[in-house]
This record gives sequence, C-alpha cells and structure tokens, in this order.
Amino acid sequence: MTQTDDDFTVQFPVEIEQYERKIYDLKQLIEISKGLNSTLEYNILIDSILLTCMGQMQLLMAGIFLKKGIGQDSYFLHRNYKGFEIDHSVEYEMEPDSEVVRHIEKNFKCYTLTELVEKIEEDKSLIILKMLDPCLIVPLMSKGILNGIIILGERINRKNFNETEKEYLLDIASLAGIAIHNATLYEMATTDMMTKLKIYHYFQTLIIEEIDRAIRLNRPLSIIMSDIDNFKILNDTYGHQAGDIALINVARVIRESIRQIDVASRYGGEEFAIILPSTEIHEALIVAERIRENIEKLTIPSDSNELRVTISIGVTQFDPERDKTKNTLIDRADKALYISKRNGRNLVSFL
Ligand code: GH3
Ligand code: MG
Ligand code: MG
Repeated sequence: MTQTDDDFTVQFPVEIEQYERKIYDLKQLIEISKGLNSTLEYNILIDSILLTCMGQMQLLMAGIFLKKGIGQDSYFLHRNYKGFEIDHSVEYEMEPDSEVVRHIEKNFKCYTLTELVEKIEEDKSLIILKMLDPCLIVPLMSKGILNGIIILGERINRKNFNETEKEYLLDIASLAGIAIHNATLYEMATTDMMTKLKIYHYFQTLIIEEIDRAIRLNRPLSIIMSDIDNFKILNDTYGHQAGDIALINVARVIRESIRQIDVASRYGGEEFAIILPSTEIHEALIVAERIRENIEKLTIPSDSNELRVTISIGVTQFDPERDKTKNTLIDRADKALYISKRNGRNLVSFL
C-alpha cells in the first residue's frame, strides 16, 4: 500500500492474494513448528512429520529415510511410512556415498524421481527409490547437514507440486530436520550405549510420569526388576570382555521379550528395570517368566566356550493406596527380586 500527502487514494498491490496466502502459510508453519517441537519421542515425531506433509499437501502416501541409530551412516525407510506398497524382503536402504544422497546433499532442493533419474547414474539407492516410485523427494537438513529424506506419494487431486508448494515443503522439512536432530540427541543422552537400553535417570523420570498416567486414567501399571545371577563369577572366570558380551546379549533378549510400549532400562551394572504400562501383575508375571526362560535358553558366544547366564526377577504392580511415591513401588520390586535370589536364583517372584 502506498500513500503520499497529496494523494490519499489507496493502491492495493495486485499480488494481495499471494501475500494473504503467504501469511496463511507462515501461520501454518508456526503451528507445525509447535507440533514438531512438542515431542522428543522418535516414533511420535516421525508420525507427526509424515501426517503434516500428507495433510498440508493432500497426499495419499508419505515416508521418510533416516539413519537407524547412533553411529549409523546409511538411511533406511522408517517403518512408520504411510501408503507405500512395500516388499518386505527388500531392505530399503540408501548409502551415504550413493549418487542419490551425494546429489541431494550438494543441491538442497525438492526433486521429482524423473529429475533424479535424468541427473544421476543408476545405483542401488536409485533402484530403491524407483521401487517406491515417489512423486517428490524432499531433503531434511539440520545444521547444514543432510539427516533424512522424505518421500511423498501421489496427491489426492493428482496435481504436480508447483514451485511455491516445493518451497513450503522445504520449510516444513527444515523444521522437521531440526526436530529429528533434537530427538536424536535426546535418544543419545537417555540411552546406555553398551546395552541400548534406557539409562537409570530416564527410568526414574518415566516412572513418575507413568504413575501419574496410571492414576489419571485409572489404568494398571507394573514394574519388573531383574539382576543377572552370579555375574561376578562369570567375570572372574571368563574376563570382563566376556561379561560385557553377556550383558549386551541379555539386554537384547529383554528388549525382544517385551512390547513396544514397555520400557526397559539398565538400572545398574547388571540390573535391569522394566516399566509395563496398562499391565496387571498377572500379565507382568507372564512377561517376566518369558524373559527368564529366554535368558536361560540364551547361549553367549565366547572365545573358550558358549556361556550361559540366568536372571532373577521381582515383579510388582503399582497400588495407589500403598504407593504415595515411586520409592515404595521400586522397593517392593527390589524385595521381590531378593526373594528370587534367596530361593535359589533363576526365579520370578512377586510382592
Ligand atoms: P548375585 O547372583 O547375587 O546377583 O551375584 P552377582 O555376582 O551377580 O552380584 P554382584 O553384585 O556381587 O556382582 C555384580 C557384578 O557385575 C560385579 C561387577 O563386576 C559386574 N558388572 C557390573 N557392570 C558390569 C559391566 O558393565 N561389565 C562387566 N563385565 N561386568 C559388570
Ligand atoms: Mg547386582
Ligand atoms: Mg547379580
């Protein structure tokens, strides 16, 4: 709008609709930013990013390639993808030194598959992309470094993406890239590097949240405490390195024996605690017995022999009457664990 002292007529720019659209988009981006920054939980964040892209662009399909974990360089299609037809016998992986990744890193913009096919030589990553056949490929960046690749499928109205939409998607992707970076840092700070289980402090924080949730929603909550039997003897006999391998394997078995919503943590050196939301004690006892059996069956590779270990377990359920703080709940699980130890080890007890 322009205005001078001797001319009071107001002139609206012809692009006013475009400005209105821009303001609307910016408001949307603020909302998206708030949404993406409201969680550090990886899976929830991924869903939030994909659903945002789908909602904003009216898409039927969306997926995201991310590094699988700390210290991993390759990008893998995250299992929360939406709509794409996946061949489960194929590992959807893009290597960091592949043509696709290198090209996207050099030229941070959105690409159609055709654009990539024209520009780069075919390699394994491009074949993977061709199998998925996305309509648009959007890079995720954080601190100037590529940290993921979003793939978008067909739109409901079957229209191609215009330049404004591609720019808007890059804005969403830069917010998503930062959120993923933060979630990765949080994951690193709360994960025990050796066992890949959560650390003690995470357990202590989460148990307070889960107790609150159990009270608020009137849902059951159980916890499992466990401790490897005679671990000192294993260390003394076979060495600390063999002990470390045993710990890594026991932790893996625990992870594989619980549900996705259960959270296992390394409570101490060879002690593990598991939080089981929405779980009655009789259900928690079944899980505990499954863990005990799976560890009993486990053979641990070692230089000399195949080693075996057992674990003692204590189980208890949160009781709002008795447990005014987390401490009494944890104490009870600990006491149950020591009943298992006293009664000969390799047992499950409850209180
Ligand atoms: P119990 O059946 O009564 O639990 O006997 P235990 O020998 O397992 O119990 P104790 O607490 O006496 O010993 C635990 C051992 O776990 C001692 C410690 O050296 C070992 N440990 C703790 N953390 C680690 C680790 O990160 N690596 C290895 N190799 N050993 C560990
Ligand atoms: Mg111990
Ligand atoms: Mg022990």
